[in-house]
Amino acid sequence: MTDELFRRDSYLKACDGEVTAVEGRGVAVDRTVFYPLGGGQPGDTGSMSWPAGSARITDTRYGKSGEILHFVADGSPLPTVGETVHLELDWDRRYRHMRMHTAMHLLGAVLRYGVTGGNISAEKSRLDFDMEDPVDKEAVALQMQALVAADHPVRCRWVSDAELDANPQLVRTMSVQPPRGKGDVRLLEIEGVDLQPCGGTHLKSTAEVGKVRIGKVEKKGRRNRRVNIHLDD
Ligand SMILES: [Zn+2]
Repeated sequence: MTDELFRRDSYLKACDGEVTAVEGRGVAVDRTVFYPLGGGQPGDTGSMSWPAGSARITDTRYGKSGEILHFVADGSPLPTVGETVHLELDWDRRYRHMRMHTAMHLLGAVLRYGVTGGNISAEKSRLDFDMEDPVDKEAVALQMQALVAADHPVRCRWVSDAELDANPQLVRTMSVQPPRGKGDVRLLEIEGVDLQPCGGTHLKSTAEVGKVRIGKVEKKGRRNRRVNIHLDD
Protein backbone atom coordinates (compact mmCIF):
# COMPACT_ATOMS: atom_id res chain seq x y z
CA MET A 1 0.00 0.00 0.00
CA THR A 2 1.18 3.54 -0.75
CA ASP A 3 2.46 5.64 2.16
CA GLU A 4 0.24 8.74 1.73
CA LEU A 5 2.61 11.49 2.87
CA PHE A 6 0.08 14.25 2.01
CA ARG A 7 -2.19 12.97 4.80
CA ARG A 8 0.36 13.91 7.44
CA ASP A 9 1.61 17.09 5.75
CA SER A 10 -0.37 18.63 2.88
CA TYR A 11 2.43 21.19 2.28
CA LEU A 12 4.99 18.63 1.04
CA LYS A 13 5.84 19.47 -2.58
CA ALA A 14 8.20 16.62 -3.53
CA CYS A 15 9.49 13.23 -2.38
CA ASP A 16 11.53 10.25 -3.53
CA GLY A 17 10.09 6.75 -3.61
CA GLU A 18 10.49 3.28 -5.12
CA VAL A 19 8.32 2.10 -8.00
CA THR A 20 6.24 -0.88 -6.82
CA ALA A 21 4.12 -1.52 -9.94
CA VAL A 22 3.44 -0.23 -13.45
CA GLU A 23 -0.13 -0.78 -14.66
CA GLY A 24 -0.59 0.58 -18.18
CA ARG A 25 0.34 4.29 -17.91
CA GLY A 26 -0.15 4.21 -14.13
CA VAL A 27 2.93 4.06 -11.88
CA ALA A 28 2.61 3.02 -8.23
CA VAL A 29 5.30 4.28 -5.85
CA ASP A 30 5.78 3.15 -2.24
CA ARG A 31 5.26 6.73 -0.97
CA THR A 32 3.84 9.87 -2.53
CA VAL A 33 2.92 13.53 -2.04
CA PHE A 34 0.34 13.27 -4.89
CA TYR A 35 -3.33 13.42 -3.86
CA PRO A 36 -5.56 10.96 -5.79
CA LEU A 37 -8.95 12.07 -7.18
CA GLY A 38 -11.58 11.84 -4.45
CA GLY A 39 -14.05 13.75 -2.33
CA GLY A 40 -14.67 16.25 -5.14
CA GLN A 41 -10.97 17.20 -5.28
CA PRO A 42 -9.05 16.49 -8.52
CA GLY A 43 -6.00 14.22 -8.66
CA ASP A 44 -2.65 16.02 -8.59
CA THR A 45 -0.45 16.67 -11.62
CA GLY A 46 3.30 17.21 -11.74
CA SER A 47 6.45 15.39 -12.82
CA MET A 48 8.35 12.18 -12.19
CA SER A 49 12.05 11.78 -12.84
CA TRP A 50 14.57 8.98 -12.48
CA PRO A 51 18.19 8.52 -13.64
CA ALA A 52 17.25 7.43 -17.17
CA GLY A 53 14.25 9.64 -17.85
CA SER A 54 11.46 11.91 -16.81
CA ALA A 55 7.74 12.28 -17.52
CA ARG A 56 4.72 14.52 -16.91
CA ILE A 57 2.11 13.18 -14.55
CA THR A 58 -1.29 14.18 -15.91
CA ASP A 59 -3.54 12.64 -13.22
CA THR A 60 -3.44 10.68 -9.96
CA ARG A 61 -6.03 8.08 -8.98
CA TYR A 62 -6.51 5.08 -6.74
CA GLY A 63 -5.93 1.73 -8.46
CA LYS A 64 -8.09 -1.36 -7.92
CA SER A 65 -6.20 -2.63 -4.89
CA GLY A 66 -6.02 0.75 -3.12
CA GLU A 67 -2.56 1.76 -4.33
CA ILE A 68 -2.08 5.28 -5.70
CA LEU A 69 -1.34 5.42 -9.45
CA HIS A 70 0.52 8.33 -11.05
CA PHE A 71 -0.58 8.54 -14.69
CA VAL A 72 2.29 9.29 -17.05
CA ALA A 73 1.57 11.32 -20.21
CA ASP A 74 1.11 9.35 -23.46
CA GLY A 75 4.36 9.00 -25.37
CA SER A 76 6.53 9.58 -22.28
CA PRO A 77 8.93 6.88 -21.04
CA LEU A 78 7.97 4.78 -18.00
CA PRO A 79 10.25 3.86 -15.07
CA THR A 80 10.66 0.19 -14.15
CA VAL A 81 9.67 -1.60 -10.94
CA GLY A 82 12.29 -1.21 -8.21
CA GLU A 83 13.63 2.07 -9.59
CA THR A 84 13.86 5.17 -7.36
CA VAL A 85 11.88 8.11 -8.73
CA HIS A 86 11.62 11.76 -7.71
CA LEU A 87 8.05 13.07 -7.58
CA GLU A 88 7.28 16.76 -7.77
CA LEU A 89 3.85 18.39 -7.59
CA ASP A 90 2.44 21.20 -9.70
CA TRP A 91 2.35 23.12 -6.44
CA ASP A 92 0.51 26.24 -7.66
CA ARG A 93 -2.42 24.13 -8.84
CA ARG A 94 -2.51 21.97 -5.69
CA TYR A 95 -2.23 25.03 -3.42
CA ARG A 96 -5.30 26.51 -5.14
CA HIS A 97 -7.11 23.21 -4.51
CA MET A 98 -6.19 23.52 -0.82
CA ARG A 99 -7.46 27.11 -0.70
CA MET A 100 -10.66 26.13 -2.51
CA HIS A 101 -11.17 23.04 -0.38
CA THR A 102 -10.77 24.98 2.85
CA ALA A 103 -13.07 27.72 1.48
CA MET A 104 -15.71 25.04 0.82
CA HIS A 105 -15.65 24.09 4.51
CA LEU A 106 -16.20 27.77 5.36
CA LEU A 107 -19.10 27.98 2.90
CA GLY A 108 -20.62 24.87 4.50
CA ALA A 109 -20.22 26.45 7.92
CA VAL A 110 -21.99 29.65 6.80
CA LEU A 111 -24.84 27.88 4.98
CA ARG A 112 -25.89 25.27 7.51
CA TYR A 113 -27.93 23.11 5.16
CA GLY A 114 -27.37 19.56 4.01
CA VAL A 115 -24.71 19.26 1.31
CA THR A 116 -25.77 17.07 -1.62
CA GLY A 117 -22.75 17.46 -3.89
CA GLY A 118 -19.65 19.44 -4.66
CA ASN A 119 -16.70 19.86 -6.94
CA ILE A 120 -13.33 21.58 -6.62
CA SER A 121 -11.02 22.93 -9.29
CA ALA A 122 -8.24 25.50 -9.35
CA GLU A 123 -10.51 27.98 -11.20
CA LYS A 124 -13.87 27.57 -9.51
CA SER A 125 -15.60 25.30 -7.05
CA ARG A 126 -19.17 24.59 -6.08
CA LEU A 127 -21.29 23.11 -3.34
CA ASP A 128 -24.90 21.96 -3.76
CA PHE A 129 -27.17 22.58 -0.79
CA ASP A 130 -30.48 20.98 0.07
CA MET A 131 -32.31 24.28 0.58
CA GLU A 132 -35.37 26.10 -0.72
CA ASP A 133 -34.54 29.58 0.57
CA PRO A 134 -32.86 32.06 -1.74
CA VAL A 135 -29.15 32.65 -1.01
CA ASP A 136 -28.16 36.12 0.16
CA LYS A 137 -24.84 36.35 -1.69
CA GLU A 138 -23.71 39.56 0.02
CA ALA A 139 -24.32 38.16 3.51
CA VAL A 140 -22.59 34.85 2.70
CA ALA A 141 -19.58 36.67 1.24
CA LEU A 142 -19.25 38.89 4.32
CA GLN A 143 -19.45 35.94 6.72
CA MET A 144 -16.88 34.00 4.73
CA GLN A 145 -14.53 36.98 4.64
CA ALA A 146 -14.89 37.31 8.42
CA LEU A 147 -13.94 33.64 8.89
CA VAL A 148 -10.88 34.11 6.67
CA ALA A 149 -9.85 37.28 8.50
CA ALA A 150 -10.21 35.58 11.91
CA ASP A 151 -7.40 33.17 10.90
CA HIS A 152 -8.86 30.05 12.51
CA PRO A 153 -6.41 27.15 12.86
CA VAL A 154 -7.21 24.11 10.67
CA ARG A 155 -6.18 20.62 11.70
CA CYS A 156 -6.90 16.95 11.12
CA ARG A 157 -7.58 14.47 13.84
CA TRP A 158 -8.39 10.82 13.93
CA VAL A 159 -11.16 9.53 16.13
CA SER A 160 -12.24 5.95 16.72
CA ASP A 161 -15.81 4.73 16.23
CA ALA A 162 -15.89 4.20 20.02
CA GLU A 163 -14.98 7.86 20.67
CA LEU A 164 -17.70 9.02 18.27
CA ASP A 165 -20.23 6.80 20.04
CA ALA A 166 -19.12 8.24 23.39
CA ASN A 167 -19.45 11.85 22.11
CA PRO A 168 -22.73 12.05 20.18
CA GLN A 169 -22.62 15.87 20.35
CA LEU A 170 -19.62 15.76 17.96
CA VAL A 171 -21.66 13.98 15.31
CA ARG A 172 -24.71 16.22 15.76
CA THR A 173 -22.75 19.26 14.59
CA MET A 174 -21.65 17.57 11.37
CA SER A 175 -23.59 18.06 8.15
CA VAL A 176 -21.98 14.90 6.77
CA GLN A 177 -22.24 11.77 8.90
CA PRO A 178 -18.91 10.04 9.47
CA PRO A 179 -18.49 6.60 7.89
CA ARG A 180 -18.58 3.84 10.52
CA GLY A 181 -17.12 0.38 10.71
CA LYS A 182 -13.56 1.09 9.59
CA GLY A 183 -12.34 1.64 13.15
CA ASP A 184 -11.01 5.17 12.69
CA VAL A 185 -12.48 8.27 11.08
CA ARG A 186 -10.40 11.20 9.86
CA LEU A 187 -11.93 14.51 10.90
CA LEU A 188 -11.11 17.96 9.62
CA GLU A 189 -11.47 20.62 12.29
CA ILE A 190 -11.56 24.35 11.70
CA GLU A 191 -11.27 25.50 15.28
CA GLY A 192 -14.56 26.92 16.49
CA VAL A 193 -16.09 26.77 12.99
CA ASP A 194 -16.43 23.31 11.48
CA LEU A 195 -15.86 19.64 12.18
CA GLN A 196 -16.43 17.14 9.37
CA PRO A 197 -15.18 13.75 8.24
CA CYS A 198 -12.91 14.66 5.31
CA GLY A 199 -9.88 13.14 3.58
CA GLY A 200 -8.86 16.02 1.29
CA THR A 201 -5.90 18.38 1.52
CA HIS A 202 -6.42 21.58 3.51
CA LEU A 203 -4.60 24.72 4.57
CA LYS A 204 -3.22 25.13 8.10
CA SER A 205 -5.21 28.29 8.77
CA THR A 206 -8.19 30.05 7.23
CA ALA A 207 -6.22 33.26 6.52
CA GLU A 208 -4.45 31.45 3.65
CA VAL A 209 -7.76 31.15 1.78
CA GLY A 210 -7.26 34.80 0.84
CA LYS A 211 -9.78 36.64 -1.31
CA VAL A 212 -12.81 34.52 -2.01
CA ARG A 213 -15.80 35.62 -4.09
CA ILE A 214 -19.27 34.13 -4.36
CA GLY A 215 -20.10 33.47 -8.01
CA LYS A 216 -23.37 32.38 -9.57
CA VAL A 217 -26.05 30.79 -7.42
CA GLU A 218 -27.96 28.31 -9.56
CA LYS A 219 -31.35 26.83 -8.81
CA LYS A 220 -31.05 23.11 -9.54
CA GLY A 221 -34.51 21.91 -8.63
CA ARG A 222 -36.97 23.03 -5.95
CA ARG A 223 -34.78 21.99 -3.02
CA ASN A 224 -31.31 22.50 -4.45
CA ARG A 225 -29.13 25.60 -4.61
CA ARG A 226 -25.71 25.40 -6.28
CA VAL A 227 -23.27 28.00 -4.95
CA ASN A 228 -20.12 28.71 -7.00
CA ILE A 229 -17.04 30.30 -5.49
CA HIS A 230 -13.91 31.84 -7.00
CA LEU A 231 -10.53 32.90 -5.67
CA ASP A 232 -9.42 36.42 -6.48
CA ASP A 233 -5.69 37.08 -6.43
ZN1 LIG B 1 -12.09 18.83 3.55
